[in-house]
Amino acid sequence: MSVAATPPAIGSFSLPRSLRRRPRFRMAVRSSAVPVDSILTKLKHECATPLPVLRRVADAMAADMRAGLAVDGGSDLKMILSYVDSLPTGNEKGLFYALDLGGTNFRVLRVQLGGKEERVIDTEFEQVSIPQDLMFGTSEELFDFIASRLATFAQKEGGKFHLPPGRKKEIGFTFSFPVRQTSIDSGILIKWTKGFAVSGTAGRDVVACLNDAMERQGLDMRVSALVNDTVGTLAGARYWDDDVMVAVILGTGTNACYIERKDSIPKLQGHVSASGRTIINTEWGAFSNGLPLTVFDREMDAASINPGEQIFEKTISGMYLGEIVRRVLLKMAEDGALFGSSIPEKLSMPFVLRTPDLSAMQQDNSDDLQAVGSVLYDIAGVESNLNARKIVVEVCDTIAKRGGRLAGAGIVGILQKMEEDSKGLIFGKRTVVAMDGGLYERYPQYRRYLKDAVTELLGLEMSKNVVIEHSKDGSGIGAALLAAANSKYEHSF
Ligand code: ADP
Ligand code: MG
Repeated sequence: MSVAATPPAIGSFSLPRSLRRRPRFRMAVRSSAVPVDSILTKLKHECATPLPVLRRVADAMAADMRAGLAVDGGSDLKMILSYVDSLPTGNEKGLFYALDLGGTNFRVLRVQLGGKEERVIDTEFEQVSIPQDLMFGTSEELFDFIASRLATFAQKEGGKFHLPPGRKKEIGFTFSFPVRQTSIDSGILIKWTKGFAVSGTAGRDVVACLNDAMERQGLDMRVSALVNDTVGTLAGARYWDDDVMVAVILGTGTNACYIERKDSIPKLQGHVSASGRTIINTEWGAFSNGLPLTVFDREMDAASINPGEQIFEKTISGMYLGEIVRRVLLKMAEDGALFGSSIPEKLSMPFVLRTPDLSAMQQDNSDDLQAVGSVLYDIAGVESNLNARKIVVEVCDTIAKRGGRLAGAGIVGILQKMEEDSKGLIFGKRTVVAMDGGLYERYPQYRRYLKDAVTELLGLEMSKNVVIEHSKDGSGIGAALLAAANSKYEHSF
């Protein structure tokens, strides 16, 4: 297709009057020094993920997993022990709670489990947003706030929810920040991320912080399990389906966990447990080997708060895909006059274009790509003609395709590693990969690319046994199930 940039056809799409402000322009550009098509061709070439690249990534993922299991610090992948040794069976019974703290909201959940026959008798949940000032306050203030909301929620027990007399309420705590887990119910916060800057928690046991706050509130509750969100997702999905072996989160960030044999974990040395298996939290966002990267990725990384870290996450997850596309479009505007002879200031603002915008643009099936035009105008302040819009969609597709296909290669890397250790464990039978997260859920093209890559790598026959399944919000119930499995009371399962 010819993609020579032409001046924008102003007024080729209609906007509400209120939006018809003139955008502010930053600079005039040199006249099409580099044609837009050559920038696009180069981008597609550098982002390409043909089968040999996918294979290289899958192999490197498997090798890095092994190295991380051998010794702490042995690879980019931390391969963190979850201390989850017993998986939900479906026999769990009783009333349990879950608390999910992972971003700007926290969620509390109550579930009455009825065993194999009745399963989930009832659930209730509540979502509370965390006031901004608490994200910058002290540890006590934050945990007191959480405990007070939890207390209000716990008071409203009734209906189908019953706790036997004399028992403390037990809770599974999903905490999606980097933690060095020290047992199933304790873990040291390494650092806050995602905009949290709470003083006095780093280096402390987050379970103790919550237990202390609950005690200050006079709340008769204890944390029985501290759970990473991927681990919660795996447990939640496994409750319904014994074939679930892997869980992957693709949302703002990304991570994966899977069920590992204890005798395949050399760094475990001497840990004994009844079960021969455990869940390993790979922290695969830190993976970096063999990825096809561009100057746009390298510049985004250099400008980030953690340069050189989380490279896989920066290539495939929701927080970054929009920003990579923005950087490409800015280059096309500056060097190739994609949007005409001047560049709107907004396009120079980091993170102004978000991944949901890419997805919205890719769903536009209209002849004149009107929705693409609106997104570009509303978000980046650019007026675009049809040609420019087509190019923008191609850029979105290139970046989403690379991300989805690399995520698929990562999944195959995990399956491959498991199969190498136990022949027939994965590929000889039905195996389920439980997926969750807003990116996977709401970007259909990305999801399709991910599945295509898995099929290409495994071949049509073998890939029929691998079921990639959306497990929506499984992590909440998963945490409650792990609280049940690690209850300090006698239980009948
Ligand atoms: P989190 O990962 O923060 O726990 P979610 O799993 O809900 O939360 O994922 C939210 C992320 O998913 C957003 O940051 C965004 O990157 C991505 N996302 C949300 N909606 C869409 C969409 N429509 N298309 C593509 N990505 C989306
Ligand atoms: Mg989440």
